[in-house]
Amino acid sequence: MKIILLGAPGAGKGTVAKRLTALDGSVQISTGDILRGAVQAGTELGKEAKGFMDRGDLVPDSLIMGIMEGRLQEADCKNGFLLDGFPRTIPQAEALKALLTKLGIKLDMVVDIEVPRDVILDRLCTRRTCENSQCQAIYNVKSMPPKVEGICDKCGSKIIQRADETEAAISHRLDTYNEKTAPLVGFYRTEGIMKTVTGTSSDAVVEAIKSELGM
Ligand code: ADP
Ligand code: ZN
Repeated sequence: MKIILLGAPGAGKGTVAKRLTALDGSVQISTGDILRGAVQAGTELGKEAKGFMDRGDLVPDSLIMGIMEGRLQEADCKNGFLLDGFPRTIPQAEALKALLTKLGIKLDMVVDIEVPRDVILDRLCTRRTCENSQCQAIYNVKSMPPKVEGICDKCGSKIIQRADETEAAISHRLDTYNEKTAPLVGFYRTEGIMKTVTGTSSDAVVEAIKSELGM
């Protein structure tokens, strides 16, 4: 499948994407994961992105398009991909459209995952992430704790609260989402491939996407 997942921070894009990859071998492409990996590795990209990310601001479109232009041409995208956290602005959506046309790729669907703001806030404050950039598994201290406190089930690394998951940065990220990313719903509705899923449970969202794709 070739799908874009839209939805506010904390809507469950990453969790839904990971479950969908298990269905047909599509890969999850999370620009947030790629950027956090670059920050941790101390690459030029990471150095440029870090300040924006820590404040909860968007990284400039040009950096993101540089990443995605290369990523979408890697061999593992042949089986399909789930874009998680990209595009995030109208210029990114326009650049993606041109890139997909150039590569001869057609999207199946754009899914907007709608979750009430109070649920989102609660989730983000209790979310924890594996610090190993190769893993970045997601946990939740309330609803999905690791088996051993503070330790990743999958790789044994430490589980941390992200630098941009303070209350101030979270609230700024939600405002940024409403201002810059929410307009993409209108953009893709015009394209005729938009599907809105209301879901407080990621299972329900996965099921809705499967049935939409006839799986
Ligand atoms: P969340 O969806 O929880 O906000 P992400 O992991 O998708 O988190 O993104 C974390 C941060 O990485 C964002 O706040 C932003 O600074 C940066 N980022 C990720 N994807 C993009 C993108 N497509 N455009 C601009 N900035 C991005
Ligand atoms: Zn891990």
